[in-house]
Amino acid sequence: MPSSSEPSSTAASSADSKPGVDGDAATKVERVHDFAGKLQQPSFWPKVLDYVKWQRALRKAEAEGRALPEMPELAPLSINLDLTTACNYACDHCIDWDILNGRDRHEDDLLREAIQRMAERGLRSVILIGGGEPTLYPRFVDFVAFLKGLDLSVSVVTNGSRGDRILQAAPYFTKGDWVRLSLDSGSNDTFVRMHHPKQKSLTLDEICSWIPKIKAANPDLSLGFSFVITWVGGSRGEVKVVENIHEMVAAAKRASDASFDYISFKPFLERQEDGSEVLDPAKTEAELQAVLARIQANIDEARRVVRPDFKVLASTNLRVLMTGTWRDYTNQPKVCHMQMLRQVVTPLGTFNCPAHRGVAKAKLGDKDLWAVAAAGQHDTSRVLRDFDATVECGEVTCLYNGTNWWLEELVSASSELPEEAPGTESRDWFL
Ligand code: SF4
Repeated sequence: MPSSSEPSSTAASSADSKPGVDGDAATKVERVHDFAGKLQQPSFWPKVLDYVKWQRALRKAEAEGRALPEMPELAPLSINLDLTTACNYACDHCIDWDILNGRDRHEDDLLREAIQRMAERGLRSVILIGGGEPTLYPRFVDFVAFLKGLDLSVSVVTNGSRGDRILQAAPYFTKGDWVRLSLDSGSNDTFVRMHHPKQKSLTLDEICSWIPKIKAANPDLSLGFSFVITWVGGSRGEVKVVENIHEMVAAAKRASDASFDYISFKPFLERQEDGSEVLDPAKTEAELQAVLARIQANIDEARRVVRPDFKVLASTNLRVLMTGTWRDYTNQPKVCHMQMLRQVVTPLGTFNCPAHRGVAKAKLGDKDLWAVAAAGQHDTSRVLRDFDATVECGEVTCLYNGTNWWLEELVSASSELPEEAPGTESRDWFL
């Protein structure tokens, strides 16, 4: 299952009108990816202030050769949480292939303790996702209940094979939470050829049949159909991916009919040898333009065949691919500030970013690192110092790019920072 996180179409953001937000960036990215806007909400701003003030003090002490100040009491505000590496599919386009079905497991008690410690320090949202299929975690439903008991926003990215478990968990979700199914196809045949489910009888029809039941159980829960667009020439190592670009319209119609709230189209990502997730557009400019023209035509047609309240979305990385601006997002500041604000917790350890999940150089520490908050702080400080994003992320189309530059400007500036949050509360806490 693809492990990039993408919030629902209905999550709100009022970034466009806020002082201090990079308005240009806000118009280029989906509102749900306007992380700088989200960070200016009253619920986040005090933690952002603590971080920026600490970074300023750190740089000043370094310049003056003094002892470095300790990090204040911070923890990530949002995490991607891989509950398990187990997966019951074998998708040809999976970017987390190398970490699936390993021996590493969470210890449920320790994991809960780590989440609890983070929540005490400002954690607001958890995206249950993979490397691995979250609904296969033996205590999945109970874990959703636990997270909601901490008043966290919760979302799930799932392969859809356990609709029964999503249905059981449905009553716990609240407004703003979302579940997104990675389905990538419009027909049963393409679904099976792309995903290779272990349960041979599983079909796209069956998966979609759960959606009206889940919607009925909790109408506030936003339900998304995710479609990673693959085209001839795409590959994962030696494996050629099945093309699905011709099924975009059928998938949108199917999702609309099945009472999903939206379909989100995104481009296929590849993992480089160094472990980073990257966009790898078709090899020549002419090939790329031909593929993009087909994608645009399919999106236009999809919008014609769906019900009026159903949304057909192009993900931010698809949009930047289509507008030819995707390379702008590979120019990172040296310090990736998002490493402090959003982290990835997996059975293999805690990592700095979804784009480097499972990669040694991006590992902060053990899977239960934050069960002892001081250890989380210590290792986050170390990675903030040692991980040079200009080098490590120079090929990554990073959707946090604008937010990282905005934070870098706040750290570099000498002006007073406003104690009062510049933004209004949207309660969209997914980063
Ligand atoms: S700069 Fe690198 S580590 Fe930071 S968010 Fe972007 S891809 Fe992730």
